Amino acid sequence: MMLLREGTQPFPLIDEIWPGEDGVGYALRMATQNALTFHQLASHLASPGHRYLPNSAASELAFMFGASTLKVANAIVARHRRGNVVEAEFLSHTFHRAKHLRQAHPQVCPLCLQEGGHARASWSITLVCCCTVHKTALIDRCGCGRTLSWRRKNLQTCECGSDFLDHIQVMQPAPRGALAICKQIETLLGFTTFRLHPESDWISRFDAISVDTFLRLIWILGNRASTKRPSIATSSNGIVDSTTARQVTEAAYDELKQLANGRILLRRTMRTAIEAIRQDATTVPDRQLLDSLLLKITRPVASGRVLAGQRSVQLALFE
Ligand SMILES: [Zn+2]
Ligand SMILES: [Zn+2]
Repeated sequence: MMLLREGTQPFPLIDEIWPGEDGVGYALRMATQNALTFHQLASHLASPGHRYLPNSAASELAFMFGASTLKVANAIVARHRRGNVVEAEFLSHTFHRAKHLRQAHPQVCPLCLQEGGHARASWSITLVCCCTVHKTALIDRCGCGRTLSWRRKNLQTCECGSDFLDHIQVMQPAPRGALAICKQIETLLGFTTFRLHPESDWISRFDAISVDTFLRLIWILGNRASTKRPSIATSSNGIVDSTTARQVTEAAYDELKQLANGRILLRRTMRTAIEAIRQDATTVPDRQLLDSLLLKITRPVASGRVLAGQRSVQLALFE
């Protein structure tokens, strides 16, 4: 049975959460329509200090604004601890590392907000750093210098009062590799019902794996390759901003493409990271992919040459 806080009531303007809409974005959209500030909503459902809403607010949000509880709950990040690791559920997917989800640090495409009127759930994935519709870089910072928060005037307006559309002049085109990675992430999230790329495209080899495995691979490949790596490892607040996410995905795209085409091997230092992903993998395609990657790790031999390209690496995904 749903337990409501005192004062929780149905609001006059109601709407269902839209397909692909972010749950916290839905809350902000409906609060605005009903002349409620996000701060008031968060104070009631969580705490006055909250700059996002926890998953535990889902049933009350659904009651207040007329949506399906399950749909709202599905579109708000739910974090939980497993041993020493914080995991998360979001959009019916399990994320073995909660850092792959943004929560308190949203990003937006101002054009999508203007045209669609809602925040897309995929923008809450840390490494989704480009708009796949407008092929532009997402923004996570206002011209006033503030990082974006859900606790803002409305979906399209910063706490300072300026409209994110004012950023259109400074919106950057999405780098090609980063955009391809973002498209693949949205495909794996289940946001596209058609194939975005032909069979011959190397990235289609990643169509059957889980979004969690894909994100973790991109993360480690991009981190190893990106020249900005130290800023990711040591970022003071632990948050990967949109700019850094673009550097990581752009670098990872090149690494992955070369790996898929058999041009490079993985450094030995990546074994531990890939084995950690392999340990969490629950599907056959994920395991096959990770096993084939583990076989692509360099092994020094007596002559000093590197063992590579033997029949042992002629495995499914990369051949
Ligand atoms: Zn857009
Ligand atoms: Zn601002």
